[in-house]
Amino acid sequence: MVNPVIFWFRRDLRLGDHPGVLEAARRGDGHVAAVFVIDPALSASVGPARAAYLVATLRALDQAMGGRLIVRRGDPGAQLARLAREIGARSVVCTEEFTPRGRERDVRVRRELRDCDVTLDVVDSPYVVRPGTIATKGGTPFKVFTPFRRAWDLEPVARPLAAPTGVTWTTADSLDVAQLAEVSSLVRPAYFGDLGTEPAAFDARVGEVGALVTLEEFLARVERYDDTRDRPGLDTTSRLSPHLHFGTLHPRQVLAATTTASNGSRVFHSEVCWREFYADVLWHNPESTWRVLQPALANLRVDRDAAAAERFQRWARGETGYPLVDAGMRQLLREGWMHNRVRMVAASFLVKQLHLDWRWGAKWFMWRLIDADVASNQHGWQWSAGTGTDAAPFHRIFNPTRQAERFDPEGDYVRRYVPELAGVAAPQCLSPGGGEGLLAASGYVAPMVDASTERHEALARFHEARVAHHAGSARS
Ligand SMILES: Cc1cc2nc3c(=O)[nH]c(=O)nc-3n(C[C@H](O)[C@H](O)[C@H](O)COP(=O)(O)OP(=O)(O)OC[C@H]3O[C@@H](n4cnc5c(N)ncnc54)[C@H](O)[C@@H]3O)c2cc1C
Repeated sequence: MVNPVIFWFRRDLRLGDHPGVLEAARRGDGHVAAVFVIDPALSASVGPARAAYLVATLRALDQAMGGRLIVRRGDPGAQLARLAREIGARSVVCTEEFTPRGRERDVRVRRELRDCDVTLDVVDSPYVVRPGTIATKGGTPFKVFTPFRRAWDLEPVARPLAAPTGVTWTTADSLDVAQLAEVSSLVRPAYFGDLGTEPAAFDARVGEVGALVTLEEFLARVERYDDTRDRPGLDTTSRLSPHLHFGTLHPRQVLAATTTASNGSRVFHSEVCWREFYADVLWHNPESTWRVLQPALANLRVDRDAAAAERFQRWARGETGYPLVDAGMRQLLREGWMHNRVRMVAASFLVKQLHLDWRWGAKWFMWRLIDADVASNQHGWQWSAGTGTDAAPFHRIFNPTRQAERFDPEGDYVRRYVPELAGVAAPQCLSPGGGEGLLAASGYVAPMVDASTERHEALARFHEARVAHHAGSARS
C-alpha cells in the first residue's frame, strides 16, 4: 500500500506546468492528497472581491480535479498534521513562498510537521527566476530595475510542463470553499470609515481555463502592447495579473506564449519582469512591506487627523473631482481591478495632492484589488510615493489633468466609469470643473483640492523632510 503525498496549494492554483504537483505525484507513486488551507491569519486581510475571486478559483480547481480538492480551515501546521495522520502521509510538498508572512508561516509549519515525523519540501516558485537568485557582479541585490532586467534576461527559462496524468487524488473530509468568503471583512482600519464592504464583484475570468483564454485573447493584441498599454480607454493590456497572483498561470507559460520578436512582446516581458524585480526587492527587504526604503523620506509629514480620513474616503469612493482619478477609483470599486497608468495617477494623487500616507492607499488597494499582491502593490505604492528603491523622484509630480489628456484623450475611460460625465465630450470631461462649470451642471463633484496649490505644499513637505534628514545625518 502506497502512502499518499500531500500537495499543499497556495498561490499556484493550477495543474498545468506545475513542478510541485508533479513531484508530489512522483513521490506518492501517483497518489496525491491536494489540500488548500484557509488560514484565518491571512484571509482576515482579504477584501470581499478578492475572497470571491479566490473562492471561484478554488471551485474551478476542484472541478478540474473531479471534486477531490480537500479544503480545511485553521492553522496550516495543525491542519496539515491532522490530514497527514488521517491518510497516513509522511510528506508534504508545496511551491515556495516569498512574502514575509508566507516565509514565517512556512518555517513554523515545517517545524510543527517535523514534530509529527512529516517533512515539508518546497519545489519551484511563482516566478520565472526565484527571488534572491539574481545579483550584481559584486554579489549584492539590484536596487534599480534596468540592470536587473538585463541580468534576468540571461537566466534560463524552463519550458512549461504538461499537467500530470494518471494521478489518483486521495479523498478526505473537506469544507465547502465558500467558507472563505465569510472570513473576509473582519479587520478594517478606522480611516476606511464605513467603506470596504461593497458587493464582492469582480471582472475577470477565473481558474486555469479562464487564464488560458485570457492569455489567448491577449496574444491577438500583444504586438500593439508597446503603443497602447498606457491607454486605459483601449483596454489592451493582458489582464493576467489575478492569474499570475493566484498562479492559475505561471509566468513561464506567459513568456513561452509571447515571442520576443516584436517590440510589443519585448515591452510586455519587461512588465512581467517588474513583478519579478519587486519580488526580489521584497525578498531582500522584507520590512519594505510597510517601511519606506528611502531614509530621507522616512519622516515626510503626512496628515492623519479626522479631516485626512475624510479626504481618504472621498478618494476611495472616486469623488475627488479629478475625472481620471475618480474613474480609476470607481473601476476598482466596481471591478476589483484598475489599469496600471491609472493606479500610478491615483496613488500619486493620494500622496502628493492629499498629503496622506502611502500606506493608507496601499491598504485600500490590498483590500479591493483581486490581483492584490504584497510585492507588486507595496512597491508600486513606494514607486508612486517616491520612497522605493527604484522610485520616481518625489518632486516629479503627476498632474492628474495632464495625465488624463495624454492617456485618455477621447475621454472614453473617464466616461465609462464616471456616469455623470457620460454626456460630456473631451477635453471638457478630462479636467476638474471642465471649464465654465460644465461638469457641475452634469452633477459631477467639484474638485476637492486645487492640484497646483497642493503640488507646492507637497514640495514644501519634501524639502522639509530632506533638510531634517540631512541635519540628522550631519549630527550623527
Ligand atoms: C500603486 C500601484 C499598485 C499596484 N498593485 C499591484 C498589485 O497589487 N498586484 C499586481 O499584480 N500589480 C500591481 N501593480 C502593477 C500593475 O498596475 C498591474 O500588475 C497591472 O495593471 C495588471 O494589469 P495587466 O495584467 O493587464 O498588466 P500587463 O500590462 O498586461 O502586464 C503583464 C503582467 O506584468 C506584471 N506587471 C505589469 N506592470 C507591473 C508593475 N508596474 N509592477 C509589477 N508587476 C507588473 C503583472 O503581473 C501583469 O499581469 C500596481 C501598480 C501600482 C502603480
